[in-house]
Amino acid sequence: MSIKRIAILGSTGSIGTQALDVIEANPEVFSVEVLTAQNSADLLIEQAVKFKPKVVVIGNEALRDKVISALASLPIQVYSGDAALVSVVESEEIDMVLTAMVGYAGLLPTIHAIKAGKNIALANKETLVVAGELITNLARENNVSIYPVDSEHSAIFQCLVGEENNAIEKIILTASGGPFRGKDREFLAAVTKQQALKHPNWSMGAKITIDSATLMNKGLEVIEAKWLFDLAASQIDVIVHPQSIIHSMVQFEDGSMKAQMGLPDMKLPIQYALHYPYRLKSTFPRFDFAAYPSLTFEKPDLETFRNLAVAYEALEKGGNAACIVNAANEIAVDAFLTDKIRFLEISDVIIECVAKINYIQNPGYSDYVDTNEATRRFALEMIQVKV
Ligand code: NAD
Ligand code: MG
Repeated sequence: MSIKRIAILGSTGSIGTQALDVIEANPEVFSVEVLTAQNSADLLIEQAVKFKPKVVVIGNEALRDKVISALASLPIQVYSGDAALVSVVESEEIDMVLTAMVGYAGLLPTIHAIKAGKNIALANKETLVVAGELITNLARENNVSIYPVDSEHSAIFQCLVGEENNAIEKIILTASGGPFRGKDREFLAAVTKQQALKHPNWSMGAKITIDSATLMNKGLEVIEAKWLFDLAASQIDVIVHPQSIIHSMVQFEDGSMKAQMGLPDMKLPIQYALHYPYRLKSTFPRFDFAAYPSLTFEKPDLETFRNLAVAYEALEKGGNAACIVNAANEIAVDAFLTDKIRFLEISDVIIECVAKINYIQNPGYSDYVDTNEATRRFALEMIQVKV
């Protein structure tokens, strides 16, 4: 088998660095061709020196000279800026693109990668939330596969191996419940970002950690699952499972259920996506039933954690509704992380944006761009008024 050449978009983040751990552990299987990051120049330089990609892109133009001079003695091309972040995926020398950047910024590079015929290992769920229909159509037209990195979707994907002739009755996405599971609105009204940033089971980037605390992450994942597995909203259930051992389940038409299990470790879904259909030997700690005498399950509280309900409504509504929710959420989470709004106001901002931004039934790419911009502007104005 020839070496698979990987481009990692967002290599300095939580997923990006763990992907590099996987690649480092399997040098006979993978090589790194491209690394990109927005601001973390020092880590990007360190990664480039170690993995020797052909190309490195730093999004922030102000850091360009720093990266160029640090890598001057190596045969590495350095680019900067948004246009380079997008076009770098088109290189002939890439077999697969891992989308590990955060937020709406993932959309355009993913479109370019698919149009260039690159298979996608998709961590950036926002891409499918914003424009799932456009992306899945484009992938079909270009004969490109999208392999999920998100642990829940990887679980579903693993459960579906060998089931090509069998219809899915429903899927059940598991949720840890985040740091505020079981809390009421009175408690949530006063929580700080330090509390919200402490996830019980996973160590992740700041945005997805806040999304886990509000349950928006699960809402985004419901929408992501719709597009990855071609399901109706009514076929996607969420169950809170605080131990995060069952990563998700599929129920077939005969009532049989398959679950994928293991200790929480993103390296497993990352390497499964990068090397599908093969499993790579690993030394990750193994799950031991005796150490977990009880795996528990409870219904999500949609009245307290309104974001999950909002995401389901956007999925039912279709069109640009999920694009509005995503943009409003990105602005609201950022405002919470910079102490401009309180925890419960995250949902207020999103709900208000859904009510006020123009609904478009059949959006094309430029409608998504406009919706994203209009929603961000409106959400920022709302937040300005609040502070
Ligand atoms: P992170 O914040 O740790 O890393 C983000 C990376 O993206 C960094 O390398 C950063 O330089 C880059 N980046 C930031 N803004 C950018 C921009 N505008 N343009 C290009 N690059 C930019 O995030 P993360 O936790 O690794 O998450 C990345 C994606 O993977 C998110 O979409 C998240 O929802 C998804 N995901 C993460 C996990 C996890 O365990 N961390 C699990 C499932 C899915
Ligand atoms: Mg997940």
